[in-house]
Amino acid sequence: MSDSCIFCRIIRGEIPSYKIYEDERTLAFLDINPSAPGHTIIIPKAHVTRVEDLSEEDAQALFRTLHGLVGGIQDALEVPSSTIGINNGPESGQEIPHVHIHVIPRTRGDRGRIIQGLVQPLNRLSAEEMRRIAERIREHTSTLD
Ligand code: 5GP
Ligand code: ZN
Repeated sequence: MSDSCIFCRIIRGEIPSYKIYEDERTLAFLDINPSAPGHTIIIPKAHVTRVEDLSEEDAQALFRTLHGLVGGIQDALEVPSSTIGINNGPESGQEIPHVHIHVIPRTRGDRGRIIQGLVQPLNRLSAEEMRRIAERIREHTSTLD
């Protein structure tokens, strides 16, 4: 828990929210400045800033809540699709330092963009660069094995 964190204050009920769902580990509520009607935020109740710092239990609980809610959000807003995203760290645009998943209902013709379009590479990467990058990431993630 953080005294000043806006999302911790929502969890404690000090700031009102349009609540969607709550369980022992997670909370879902409407984004106050929605990108589309039904734009929902899903958070862990633990104050953790970044995805990589979540406990395995909270990581599982977050995805469980996402999985349980996303179809219903789409049905309620009568849309066929949604964009699901996490701004992970300030350089990615994260403004609230408490992990949160954005669920943004999407329709054909909403003039929204795709996640891969957020950043454009300066140059195409060569096969050799791709191979080296994959190898380096494998080395840094070997704890998963
Ligand atoms: P970020 O850029 O950190 O991924 O996004 C933070 C999101 O939290 C923004 O979309 C913003 O509209 C939302 N937000 C900020 N303050 C509040 C608030 O007090 N209540 C709710 N429900 N959402 C908030
Ligand atoms: Zn917090």
